[in-house]
Amino acid sequence: MPKCPHCHQPFMYKQLLRISWSSRVGVECSNCQKTSFESASSKKKLTLVTIITPITIIIFRELLNLSMTVVSFIILMFLGILTLTLPLYTKLTKEEEPLW
Ligand SMILES: [Zn+2]
Repeated sequence: MPKCPHCHQPFMYKQLLRISWSSRVGVECSNCQKTSFESASSKKKLTLVTIITPITIIIFRELLNLSMTVVSFIILMFLGILTLTLPLYTKLTKEEEPLW
């Protein structure tokens, strides 16, 4: 589980889930009350995965001749799993880093 970059206190899963929805908000440490932000490299990886995966699924749709309903279901499942597991892989920094 990611730790606070200020005091190294591990964050709770529930605290980090909020950052999945809005990385600009940051997450406040319950130990030192300082705000941490998702790192630029973490944001870039998420953006890349979020873009590449649906494209890959759509390409496989053409190859396997899947219906759009099945493809939509797979994409929704993927986004749900990504949202729930994201807090486990998020890297945090002391200050908000620009994406580019
Ligand atoms: Zn802290």
